Amino acid sequence: MKLLYKGKAKSVYERDEDTYLIEFRDDLTAGDGAKKDTKAGKGALNAEISAKFFEILKEKGIDTHFIEFQPPNKHLVKKVRIIPLEVICRNIATGSLIRRYPFKEGQELSPPIVEFGYKDDKYHDPMVNDEIAIALGAVEKKEELDKMREITLKVNDILTEFLKDKGIILVDFKLEFGKDKEGNLLLADEISPDTCRFWDATTKEILDKDRFRKDLGNVLEFYREVRERILA
Ligand code: UDP
Repeated sequence: MKLLYKGKAKSVYERDEDTYLIEFRDDLTAGDGAKKDTKAGKGALNAEISAKFFEILKEKGIDTHFIEFQPPNKHLVKKVRIIPLEVICRNIATGSLIRRYPFKEGQELSPPIVEFGYKDDKYHDPMVNDEIAIALGAVEKKEELDKMREITLKVNDILTEFLKDKGIILVDFKLEFGKDKEGNLLLADEISPDTCRFWDATTKEILDKDRFRKDLGNVLEFYREVRERILA
């Protein structure tokens, strides 16, 4: 199989005319790739957690690129052209939001905040408004951004509700979208502890990549905890 793209945590292989195989690797990075580590088993955990979330979203009518989980660490997906935007949704203020604006750590955000970042590590994925996203050629029309906002908020509702039952608060997350060859907008990439913030509902303990970003330790133990809770 032809390796098409090797990102910071995943590799994409061309399987056939219509599909890719995405391999979730054990690499962990933070700070636009400045901080790096490898944790054996992280890729498999993220692949399984992400597969579960895509299955739930599919059941609820969200169009995604996801076809099937191929254990231990691969997803078979429909080919899409990735839109170079990160769509971030926040229910609680933390991370870059409190570094950039006078929000208080842990402050509830209701309604949730959706923001777009232009995917380019050299510029630290800068937040863009609709005009900048269009002028950069990330999308053609404002309607596409509106559609991405609408789907993101729906994903937020579905996953917040699902995780609440598991004793997990969905603090914030990042989505990516792509377009298939017919021009359909599909949810793509991954939804995992690498791309979401999860807090224990009772203790507010951090269960996600912030354990790595902030050197809190036991990264994999907490990813395993997320896996166990969501598969239970
Ligand atoms: N995020 C991501 N990839 C990025 C930037 C952010 O998956 O390149 C996720 C991150 O895990 C968190 C949410 O998006 O769940 C919001 O991240 P934030 O803007 O607070 O950035 P950070 O604090 O990670 O710099």
